[in-house]
Amino acid sequence: MNSESYRFKVGDYDCIAVNDGTHTYAPPDFPPPATLLFSNAPAESLEPVLRKHGLPTPWLEWTSPYICLVVNTGKHRVLVDTGAGRLAPTTGRLLQNLLAENIAPDDIDTVVITHGHPDHLGGNTDNDGKLSFANARYIMWKDEWDFWTSGQAERVLDEHSREVLVNTAQKNLPPLKGRIELVDKETDIVPGIRAIATPGHTLGHMALVVSSKNEKLLCISDAFLHPIQIEHPEWYSVLDLVPEQLVAVRRRLLQEAAEEKALVLAFHFAFPGLGYVVREAGAYRWHPVGTDS
Ligand SMILES: [Zn+2]
Repeated sequence: MNSESYRFKVGDYDCIAVNDGTHTYAPPDFPPPATLLFSNAPAESLEPVLRKHGLPTPWLEWTSPYICLVVNTGKHRVLVDTGAGRLAPTTGRLLQNLLAENIAPDDIDTVVITHGHPDHLGGNTDNDGKLSFANARYIMWKDEWDFWTSGQAERVLDEHSREVLVNTAQKNLPPLKGRIELVDKETDIVPGIRAIATPGHTLGHMALVVSSKNEKLLCISDAFLHPIQIEHPEWYSVLDLVPEQLVAVRRRLLQEAAEEKALVLAFHFAFPGLGYVVREAGAYRWHPVGTDS
């Protein structure tokens, strides 16, 4: 499978999962993956689950793709998240991957930023600080915008997270002033694409529901960072800001995805990040597209 872009349909809409690149999370910059991703999981419960998922013990590094989404509704070309930009040598491939799909930056008329982390907004601007998608209206949840632009992030985050997170937000959010549209309730961003409040990973984290005909795509962004959290929604990450809120949000998303048999797109799952949530033997499971597992 091409790991840069993956085309699929949701009803009448043409969609593309587009990779901005990958990043490897490992010490010393991050805790070991099991601690990073499942910080509250009891070791005796976690170990057999890691083994079942074919993960090495000890698990020393986690390489994640950064999967953005383009939806062409016929009327609108919507981009969800802009990737990490120049954050690492292995990221910032979004624009070239869009061009390979014959999408120029100016073709995008709407950009949705699901939340203010560097891997989701680092591609907002180019090397000169200019907007990468100059023709677009930009959408973000109001609480999220306020968190990163009002000094709240500096007060809440620890020193380590502050450096990269706040710096990247401060480079990539102020240029949007005057054209960003902030939403504070669940609403249609364009016909067929609805913003859903999913706080917990961050204060104003946003998910999206894309609907056309009788088909549905649930774009969950970082509500889940790893498929093991589909089985264990109660295991949260050190990166999650309000864990209790996140766990409640996850249960709601899992129920909706399973009951409505919605296609699900997760930003950090193995490329293309698409799959279905299925309820089996009293727990939810992740069934990636293109596999029988
Ligand atoms: Zn992320």
